[in-house]
Amino acid sequence: MQKPIQELAPRISDCLKLIYSMQERNQKVSTSAVSERLRVSDATATMMFKDFAAAGWVEHVPYHGVRLTPLGEQKAMEVIRHHRLLELYLARELGYSWDKVHEEADRLEHVISEEFEARLDQLLGYPTIDPHGDPIPSKDGVIAVRRGIKLSQMEDGQCAQILRVSDQDPEKLCYLGSMGLYPECRVQLLARAPFGGPLQIRVGEEGAQVDYMLGAELAEHIIVSAS
Ligand SMILES: [Zn+2]
Repeated sequence: MQKPIQELAPRISDCLKLIYSMQERNQKVSTSAVSERLRVSDATATMMFKDFAAAGWVEHVPYHGVRLTPLGEQKAMEVIRHHRLLELYLARELGYSWDKVHEEADRLEHVISEEFEARLDQLLGYPTIDPHGDPIPSKDGVIAVRRGIKLSQMEDGQCAQILRVSDQDPEKLCYLGSMGLYPECRVQLLARAPFGGPLQIRVGEEGAQVDYMLGAELAEHIIVSAS
């Protein structure tokens, strides 16, 4: 399995990417969780875990499924780098909206060569974040951690800058985009309704602010820098 990432079966690189993102969210990486998300059978997921362990990409953690080894993490970084560079290219150069880039990048990330990746990187000016605010790993697999809190965890009256917005659900992204809730934008939490009700937020810079009501569940998908 010591092949370049574009020679791996798409399912293999998808699985690596998934394990990384689950670890990032402190979720348990079990065969059942992976098979469900990748829409494969439990037997297939078990097989992949076995192959990954044999390749030295993952190690088993008792009762917690698997965890990427440094080598596995490096492989995952290669896939994620392809994916996020492509997302940015699609959004910036081809005019895709941010809710459409994820799916398209999923298709393309498996086929681009290392040279194509290097040219994309250069064309885009060596970017460090993708359209959703997710960090783009460097060529050597170094990724900048963007720490923040969920919008739902802000205090009343607090202002913050949006760092990342979860790219998993295109419809939610489309809706959040309609309120201008993009990375780098300013947001203020004005008030929240009790018992998990909606949040009243103010979006944008001084002089061009608009107030919206945001569902509590959606506020979980937005990471902001606490300031
Ligand atoms: Zn993204």
